[in-house]
Amino acid sequence: MTYPALAHRTAVVTGAASGMGAATARLLAANGARVALLARRADRLEALAADIAADGGQALTVAADITDQASVDAAAEAVHAAYGSVDLVVNNAGVMLPNPLADGRIDEWTRMVDTNLTGALRIVRAFTADLVGAAARGRAADLVNVSSIASHVVFPDYAVYGATKAALTQLSAALRTELGPRDVRVSSVEPGLTDTELGGHIDNPALRDQLNGMFRAIPALGAQDVADLIAYTVSRPPHVNLRHLVVLPTRQA
Ligand code: NDP
Repeated sequence: MTYPALAHRTAVVTGAASGMGAATARLLAANGARVALLARRADRLEALAADIAADGGQALTVAADITDQASVDAAAEAVHAAYGSVDLVVNNAGVMLPNPLADGRIDEWTRMVDTNLTGALRIVRAFTADLVGAAARGRAADLVNVSSIASHVVFPDYAVYGATKAALTQLSAALRTELGPRDVRVSSVEPGLTDTELGGHIDNPALRDQLNGMFRAIPALGAQDVADLIAYTVSRPPHVNLRHLVVLPTRQA
């Protein structure tokens, strides 16, 4: 689909190196938005930016680690230097590291909290003033937080991942009370099973097999399905806020 309302928007997409972030960045750029691509893998970002440019779009690569405040500060500075203020933030970067709670994987718990929750907050902190400013100038202004079905459906061995996503969904709702009255839309997108690199970091063979089994059993969403939903959401008229979106493969129970 095409989204003419996205022309002239300036976006930041985190986790743009792969999966939903890359697909969202591509779609926003294809519809005329300037897109700052944030993630750690600079080579992936460069390849995506080159593709976007080849298709006539505009993208800026910003290698950044959202678990590191100095890195986020430098990224925000780079985005502002190149593009000025932004009016669309897609807080999408995340990691999913399931293991039984009894294994006590404080390393994984810390990484998930630092990325999925504190990392998202660092991005909110970096760009909220831009969003409020854009809205005050009468422009559409959006914060999209990519949460998960795991925020409200419990899966064994995914307790901490689910907790970070529940917190992110709650954060979206709470931020709406602060930003909605200032005309900034906040949307929480909660996908189900989607075919991306997300499961590639699982180090527990049984849980890796279990996830692979789900992909065999259910025709999953593609990253572009979620990108399409995000593009649709942020291209509504400014007084319309699609605030809480759950998107699942049709066969996912
Ligand atoms: P991917 O693994 O393909 O994408 C995750 C992205 O996050 C990567 O581009 C990665 O890039 C980036 N990232 C991870 N850690 C950091 C960090 N510290 N700093 C900056 N960027 C980081 O998976 P998805 O596209 O599936 O994930 C996107 C979002 O969707 C996540 O928040 C995930 O939890 C959520 N989600 C996914 C579902 C699925 O079934 N796939 C279902 C529901 C929600 P790099 O490694 O280069 O930094």
